[in-house]
Amino acid sequence: MMLPTHALIGLALALPVSVIAPEFADIALTAGLLGGILPDLDMYVGHRKTLHYPVYYSALALVAAPVAVLVPTAAMVAATFLLLGAAVHSVMDVFGGGLELRPWEATSSRAVYDHHRGRWLAPRRWIRYDGAPEDLLLSAVIAVPLLLALDGVLRAIVAAAVVVAVVYTAVRRLLPTIAEVVITGYLVRTLPDRLLAVLPARYGLERGK
Ligand SMILES: [Zn+2]
Repeated sequence: MMLPTHALIGLALALPVSVIAPEFADIALTAGLLGGILPDLDMYVGHRKTLHYPVYYSALALVAAPVAVLVPTAAMVAATFLLLGAAVHSVMDVFGGGLELRPWEATSSRAVYDHHRGRWLAPRRWIRYDGAPEDLLLSAVIAVPLLLALDGVLRAIVAAAVVVAVVYTAVRRLLPTIAEVVITGYLVRTLPDRLLAVLPARYGLERGK
C-alpha cells in the first residue's frame, strides 16, 4: 500500500482512544501516524526489510498494549501506538504487491521480509500494487471518519494525505519510466560507481540498462 494509506491507517488505529481516554488522544494519534509511516523510511535502503518487522513489531505491540492499559502513561500510550502502527503497516504490505519496479506486472515473489523466519513473504495482492485504484479507495474510506472526528493539525494532515494519495495514484504507472529515464539517462553518466551501487536493484542497473 502507498504511504498515505499507511499513515491514515496508523491514525485510524488510535481513533478509539479519543473516545475511551481523550486525555491521551493527541499522543496516541501522533504515535499511530508516525508508526504507520516509520517502516517506509527504508524505501531506498533495503525496502520492506530494513524497517519492516511484521512479526517483531506485532509481538512488541502485544506486550505494550496491556501495560499501557494497566499503567496508562503518555510514554506507554505512545510506545503502544507507535508499535501498533508499524506492525499493522508491516503486515498489511504482505497483502499488497511485490517489490518489482512495475508491481502491476506481478512478477516478484517478495512482499515483506520476515526476520523471524529468515525469508521473504510472498505478496497476496489483495491490493494489486501501491497506488492502485483500490489502494486509493481504501485511503478514501479510512479518511472519512478521520476527517469527521479530528480537527486542527491532524485533520489537515488527513486532508493532505488524501491529496497526495490522489496525485500518486494518478501518476503511479508513469513513475517507473520516469525513474529509468532519470537514472539511466542522467545519473549513470554523472554519479560515481559507489553511489550507483546503493541504488535499489529494482531500477534494473544490475542488468546494465
Ligand atoms: Zn511498507
